[in-house]
Amino acid sequence: ETISIQELANRMSERSVDVIKFLMQQGQMMKPGDIIEPDLAELIASEFGHTVRRVAESDVEEGIFNVADNVENLVPRPPVVTIMGHVDHGKTSLLDAIRKTSVVSGEAGGITQHIGAYQVEQGGQKITFIDTPGHAAFTAMRARGAQATDIAILVVAADDSVMPQTIESINHAKSAGVPIIVAINKIDKPGADASKVRNALLQHEVFVESMGGEVLDVEVSALKGTNLDKLLDAILLQSEILELKADPTRTAEGVVIEAQLDKGRGPVATVLVQTGTLKIGDIVVAGDEWGRVRALITDKGAQLKEALPSMPVEVLGMQGTPLAGDRFAVVESESKAREIAEYRQRVAREKQVAKSAGQRGSLEQMMSQLQDTGLKEFPLLIKGDVQGSIEAIIGALDKLGTDEVRARIVHSGAGAITESDIALAGASRAAIIGFNVRANKQAREAAEREGIEIRYYNIIYDLVDDVKDAMSGLLSPER
Ligand code: GDP
Repeated sequence: ETISIQELANRMSERSVDVIKFLMQQGQMMKPGDIIEPDLAELIASEFGHTVRRVAESDVEEGIFNVADNVENLVPRPPVVTIMGHVDHGKTSLLDAIRKTSVVSGEAGGITQHIGAYQVEQGGQKITFIDTPGHAAFTAMRARGAQATDIAILVVAADDSVMPQTIESINHAKSAGVPIIVAINKIDKPGADASKVRNALLQHEVFVESMGGEVLDVEVSALKGTNLDKLLDAILLQSEILELKADPTRTAEGVVIEAQLDKGRGPVATVLVQTGTLKIGDIVVAGDEWGRVRALITDKGAQLKEALPSMPVEVLGMQGTPLAGDRFAVVESESKAREIAEYRQRVAREKQVAKSAGQRGSLEQMMSQLQDTGLKEFPLLIKGDVQGSIEAIIGALDKLGTDEVRARIVHSGAGAITESDIALAGASRAAIIGFNVRANKQAREAAEREGIEIRYYNIIYDLVDDVKDAMSGLLSPER
């Protein structure tokens, strides 16, 4: 666990200047917001006459999260599916159409409600769909260390074929090691050309069966409801190959799909049970929140006494709202739940302080995402006040490049950061750098919406230094 100099000083009840002075004597120039490694923190602490007790996550959370299943108790569980693909290729339509078929075919009663995921039945077998299409949610969850998805449905419109977000989706699925099933959508359209889609996918190393590969593909029309059962069958087939199993006899563990504060019901978290059985009365920890399960409600509005593996359920009874992607687990007592929640709140606070002090978090986060996708290029979009400074920056960044990692400038230009810069950065997964320029209001809003990082600099050296740090982060093996 790393810590900022400020936080370390606080915890020792020392002044941060004294810590910095000590570091200077050791030949290290640092600022209060700088983050230091545990070893150095320990050295400083003992230098200031403190005994160190490192509270590792494993101490507080020992035996709570990622507890292995007992092999003898494993039984098959339904697959959890996420739908990905290019915008307008029909992800939402497909999710709606699949949900509708299941309602028609009949689980009794209940009005369907959006809880972030739903379950359908095909031939007596269940399939869970994550209800947020696209890879944004998928990536956000993975960034929090959760992998909820077993199978990715790649929707490709037959009249549009492979597009940039199709490729991104492929990369996301591949980097997560999640198998793809291709749904060639909109086959009802006059211009539909399914074989063109299959061919285009070849170039991105998605080999469907008819091309000699192993990736299942199904031609569908979300609009007309064509071949949806074939798609569900393909999912079940794939899931058989994966031999998905869980242990329903143990205490539950899983991931938060979404959560919000409901006026009437208090905090409501939709969780996906990944293993074990979640029961009413269980005490759960999710992220840095905890609670006692008061009610479990399905996507069809049914109240359950318990939820089995791969089931998405709304949980009532949390003390606060956790975040999508947070892992949850059942613990034995309220005091244990509190301890973990408080520990995690403290860690989160420290990270926040470190981030606002050092402004380092996000670039590095972005780098680790890049690494997920296997990229060793660092895409940047650079806006500056004058052409001369932009050229100087690009020149300096060029020099940083190595055989393994380099900056790729997707766009550069003089002037303020605009909405179209955000769109371009979004499409190419680039960070935006503003040198002596700012983003206008629309651009700021768009960046917020799209979760795109804008960094402002007025000293070239600082800029280059940050990029350098981020690049070396990309290369270090422990990330
Ligand atoms: P998303 O952005 O991927 O979620 O795409 P949407 O589900 O919003 O669909 C985009 C547009 O394509 C909408 O106008 C849909 O009505 C249309 N669409 C979706 N599926 C089909 C289909 O199978 N056939 C036809 N003709 N249109 C479809």
